[in-house]
Order: sequence, then C-alpha cells, then structure tokens
Amino acid sequence: MYSQLYFDYNATTPCSKQVVEVMLPYFKEDFGNPSSSHHAYGWLAMSAVEEATHSIAKSLGVSRNSLIYTSGATESINMVLKGVARKLKAKGKHIITTKAEHKAVLDTCKFLEEDGFSISYLDVDSSGLISLEALNKTLRSDTILVSILYANNETGNIQPLHNIAKLVHDNGSLLFSDTTQALGKVSLSTILDLVDFACFSGHKVYGPKGIGLVYIRDNENRNTVPSLIQGGGQQKKQRGGTINTPLIVGLAKAIQLAQSTLNIESERQKKLRDQLEQSLLEKIEMTVLNSNAPQRLPNTTNVSFAYVDGANLLTALSRQIAVSNGSACNSASVEPSHVLVAMGVDRNLAYASLRFSIGKFTSVEDIKKAVEIICKEVTKQRENNILWERRNV
Ligand code: PLP
Repeated sequence: MYSQLYFDYNATTPCSKQVVEVMLPYFKEDFGNPSSSHHAYGWLAMSAVEEATHSIAKSLGVSRNSLIYTSGATESINMVLKGVARKLKAKGKHIITTKAEHKAVLDTCKFLEEDGFSISYLDVDSSGLISLEALNKTLRSDTILVSILYANNETGNIQPLHNIAKLVHDNGSLLFSDTTQALGKVSLSTILDLVDFACFSGHKVYGPKGIGLVYIRDNENRNTVPSLIQGGGQQKKQRGGTINTPLIVGLAKAIQLAQSTLNIESERQKKLRDQLEQSLLEKIEMTVLNSNAPQRLPNTTNVSFAYVDGANLLTALSRQIAVSNGSACNSASVEPSHVLVAMGVDRNLAYASLRFSIGKFTSVEDIKKAVEIICKEVTKQRENNILWERRNV
C-alpha cells in the first residue's frame, strides 16, 4: 500500500470490502457456469446472476431487460456505437458527438469514419457544454445516433441532457449518453428515462474491474444493439462468452451501495471539493478553474496553474499525491487534454492542469495536506521559471 494521498477516484476506485465479500463464494465453492442448465452448480450461478440483475434494475429504477453485462464502459460504448451504426446504416450513416467525449467514444467514432460513416464533432463552450442551436443545425434526416457524454471525466461538467434529448428525438434519431462517471455521484433517475442507451463501469463505483453494463431503455431497441462478441448465445444472444458470476454479483453490490449512500456522499464530497477549489484559488495566484458548468459532479475539479510546466508538476507531485492531468487512459500522451483544448483553454494552461477526483475515503485532512503540497510545488516551479519573474514587466 502506498502512503500517497489518493485524488484519482475518477480513474478508478478501490473495491469495497462488502463487494469483495459477496463475490468470494462465486470464485470458490459456487463456481458453476450460469449456462450449465443441467445441474445445481449452474442453477445456483444463474440464480445469483438473476438476483444481481434484479438488484441493479431496482437500484437504477429501470427494467431488468434493459441491462446487458459487458467488460466495462469501453466495451459498452463500442457495442452501442458500432451496433447502431451497423443496424441502422440503411436509414443513414450520420452520427453526432462532441469534441469533449471520452476517448472510448472518439476512437470508436474514428473507427466508424474509416468504415464510411460521417461523424460531426460538436464544439463545446468554455464550460464544456454544447450549444443546443448548433446541435439542432447539425441534426439531419440521416442522423441515426447522437452520442453525448453526460458528466465529463476530466472536468465533471454536466451536459443539459433534457434539452438535448428533446431535439434528438424530435429529429427521429437515437440518443446514447456515456453515464460512466455520473453513477453513484448524481441521481440518474430522470436521465435514464431520457436516453435510449447509456453505459456503466464497475470499477468507477467501488466495484470490480472488468465488468460493466449497456443500458437500453426501450425493449424494441435491443435489436438495434447486436452482439459485438459472437459465440455461445449468452445474455439472450446479445453478448457471447461465459457470464461472469462473481463480477456481476460484485457489480450489483457496488451499485446498491453507491445508490444508497449517494445523497450523503455527494453532499460530503461537494464540500471537500469546494474547500479544495477555494484553497487553491486563494493560496495560489493565477490559478484557473476549468470545472465551471452550472451543473457538475460533486467530486471532480480541474484547475490550471499559469507559469507552471504541467509534466514537471505532475512528476514532482507523484511521490506524494495520486492525481491526474487528464484522463488516465490518456496519461501516456504528451498532448494537452483534448477536453480542455476543446473548451478553448490556452494550450500552456491545458498542459499545466490537474484533475482532482475525490472519493469516499477522502477527508478534510487530506484536502489540507494536498493544498499545502501543491502550493509548495507550484511556488518552486515558478521560482525556476524566468517567465514568472518577468510576468509583470
Ligand atoms: N467513459 C468515461 C466517461 C470514463 O471516465 C471511462 C474511464 O475512464 C470510460 C468511459 C471507460 O471505462 P472502462 O474503464 O470501464 O472501460
């Protein structure tokens, strides 16, 4: 175990003890294959999967038939985007998304472009939000799907999905929203009634890695999302491969815990986030807040420090604080965050940005310690930067 302060809960979360406990029997004595319909090992496993599905449906307030298990949000996104594209290509080959999506959406769109689909990438404003007017102008009669990230993983900024859904549906198109980061942080009850498809991931909500969900609101649209993985006919032929009983049981427990503590935890984490933001803005001059939409995740903040080299800052902090400078899936890249660039953040400031994501083990003390460490490091970096000295000349 590292002694670092952990501020990267949007990248991943530790698996809850209760989640590990409910999974354990299904790795050991109750190891049956849910598809083994001729003996008790299989029956027991299938009944655990059915119970878990019932529990997830109840926690999310959706129908059990609306859920398909996948290996995580990336697979869910691939399944929805590629599935809808394949099924509806006779109707149209136009898809709309935004420039500030997670790479799982952007890379899948790139793949579809190579396959002859036309993708429109909507601009976002300085709060990371799309313009409804631009969406309306971009919708066409051949637009089959609109894919819009609900809560941004890098900034926490939340899109106005109510208005978006109306425009998309009035046009006769389908709406997918990547709701991966929103689960357990904000209420999704009205959102899941608005979108046609959504996705979730276990490891973002104190569940296991390698398990996720596709949500399909309307039963009729199940056919619109054909299986990405062929073989075995599992999950009503919508996702081949042995059903992963322990991970599904763990996912159900994680979602149940996340939903039952949502109000208390989001309130607590919002206070910590505000404390972190206020302290950084007060104590470090020329700090810019990139998380600034009217609605945003309670646990996420993204800030830039002028006259600081982001890579050096991250390296200096890495011994003491686990924090990220964008999406973790993108941390090998030396490019500034595509989300901040899309928001019009100056490239130097985008390089010098940090994303803090708070979680259920973050304390007031952690915030104070983190602020102290960051103040020290930013000051040190600026002292070594000639441009900082000359800034007022
Ligand atoms: N979408 C968003 C918004 C995310 O934050 C992530 C993970 O970082 C993903 C999709 C991909 O999730 P997974 O790790 O389950 O594939």
